[in-house]
Amino acid sequence: MTESQLPVVQMRPYRWGDPTKTVALPAAATAALGYLGAHAPARPPVEPGEATLPDIALATKVHEALTAAVGAGNVTSDQLTRVAHTRGWSTPDLLKLRCGDASDAPDAVVFPGSHEDVLHVLEICTEHRVAVVPFSGGTSVVGGLAPVRDSFDGVIALDLRRLDAMTAIDTESRTATLQAGVRSTRAEQLLGEHGFTLGHFPQSYEGASLGGYAATRAAGQASVGYGRFDEMVVGLVLATPRGTITLGTAQKSAAGPDLRELVMGSEGTLGVITEVTVRVHALPELRVYDGWRFDSFEQGAAALRTLMQDGPVPTVVRLSDEAETAVNLSDPGGSLGSGPGGCVSIAGYEGAADEVASRRATASAVIAAAGGQSLGTAPGEAWRAGRFLAPYLRDSLLDEGAFVETLETATFWSNLAHLRDEVTTTLTAVLTELGTPPVVLCHISHIYEAGASLYFTVLCAQGDDPIGQWHKAKLAANAAIRAAGAAITHHHGVGTDHRDTYSQEIGPLAVEVLRAVKKTLDPVGILNPGVLIG
Ligand SMILES: Cc1cc2nc3c(=O)[nH]c(=O)nc-3n(C[C@H](O)[C@H](O)[C@H](O)COP(=O)(O)OP(=O)(O)OC[C@H]3O[C@@H](n4cnc5c(N)ncnc54)[C@H](O)[C@@H]3O)c2cc1C
Repeated sequence: MTESQLPVVQMRPYRWGDPTKTVALPAAATAALGYLGAHAPARPPVEPGEATLPDIALATKVHEALTAAVGAGNVTSDQLTRVAHTRGWSTPDLLKLRCGDASDAPDAVVFPGSHEDVLHVLEICTEHRVAVVPFSGGTSVVGGLAPVRDSFDGVIALDLRRLDAMTAIDTESRTATLQAGVRSTRAEQLLGEHGFTLGHFPQSYEGASLGGYAATRAAGQASVGYGRFDEMVVGLVLATPRGTITLGTAQKSAAGPDLRELVMGSEGTLGVITEVTVRVHALPELRVYDGWRFDSFEQGAAALRTLMQDGPVPTVVRLSDEAETAVNLSDPGGSLGSGPGGCVSIAGYEGAADEVASRRATASAVIAAAGGQSLGTAPGEAWRAGRFLAPYLRDSLLDEGAFVETLETATFWSNLAHLRDEVTTTLTAVLTELGTPPVVLCHISHIYEAGASLYFTVLCAQGDDPIGQWHKAKLAANAAIRAAGAAITHHHGVGTDHRDTYSQEIGPLAVEVLRAVKKTLDPVGILNPGVLIG
């Protein structure tokens, strides 16, 4: 099944993806549960309808003004809708909802139908001091959707799902303009009808939307071939409490700083992105995914660096470390069996048939010369088929009393091994100290000429206080990343979880610049208070 054949689904609170799909735990995961001492919780999760929500703080007159702005039926405060817009999809977010804690629920959910609707909502919320949480797919894993109520007279989630159209396509320039609420799956369907693909396939592909990708600088698994999302965007429209900003008159320009870059990654703190114009690509004629084995992580990393620096470059490249290869959680499809030992790497190629054949042949020779042993296409193709299943697997692991969470970072090649050691050692030490010794898995998820990102998966028993236990581990990991001189995030974004470390990373003067820009665009500070810069 290709990406454009996946249905556009409505996800349930705290259970990922297509409600008709269940994913059984692979044997390695079941074995890991026993090894970690995980036991299924005594009580089943609280149903969303039974969760505890805060009283609604939004004044009736504001509710009425919002309804007048976006139309009857497009503002709701019913329990299930509020619960479905409570926080995001980090494991602590899921565990809180499973316990019935919806204390961060917005007072109301507003569904605007146009850019003008969004401007109108921002005007009303500014006038009445109501905090606004822009909400695209709702898949943030860094606390980007958890509002700070503080001094505000209410909180709304601004759900952009009605902004669901492709408004223009320029087949000559190979660009398409899509509204911010277009889900990834729908974007691929819309583009596919014209013979194009966006090529943006994050693991959250079934849940996330284009506005969220731009707001968080997301990176898909095929970023080496198609680019990160911020590299795809050539234009965007931003609705702010002060009015509209439209950016992007050409792919590249020398006219001052590129303000598109200021908006991308702003995580809803400067305005609401209502539309993006993105570069698109011809649908690939051929997709071939290979598996490779390396004796060690260092050997595999060196091979990936050589490929990226000297070429040719596959469309997808990743490398699991020894632990991830052994546990095999990166492969929910179970294609690697008990694992071939060492470190498994996936190299995938997409494009025109001739071009793919020659790129693959040359890249394979480079990988082999760097010590790679071919595993054939079976592991690569199985990885491709199962690559969106890991979030389903997380739900099953949580059901069984395991705690599983991920974090990611990036650095230069010369610092990569040190960074991996520091984060792995820190997470292992903190969680062991807390009585829940973990398995820490790592892979290189995205590569560049000068460096790469590392993606960690942590698996342990839930313990008595899994949220508190992870909070400590996460703070320690943030500190380890900072101490190692690496980026606090490569693609998940800052949200609230990384805010303090991000401030340290960029320094007080840079934080002041961001605050000044926010003050100009959002004088009352209604947009995502507490996110990104606090
Ligand atoms: C299982 C899983 C796997 C994931 N895998 C990846 C991955 O492979 N790569 C990756 O990059 N990320 C990944 N993520 C993180 C997440 O999917 C990305 O951050 C994604 O870009 C969020 O998109 P969204 O539409 O869900 O945005 P949301 O979660 O709705 O919003 C994210 C942030 O942006 C703000 N925002 C949303 N829409 C707008 C808008 N239109 N204008 C202004 N601000 C806005 C929100 O207020 C919030 O702060 C994963 C998450 C999960 C749960």
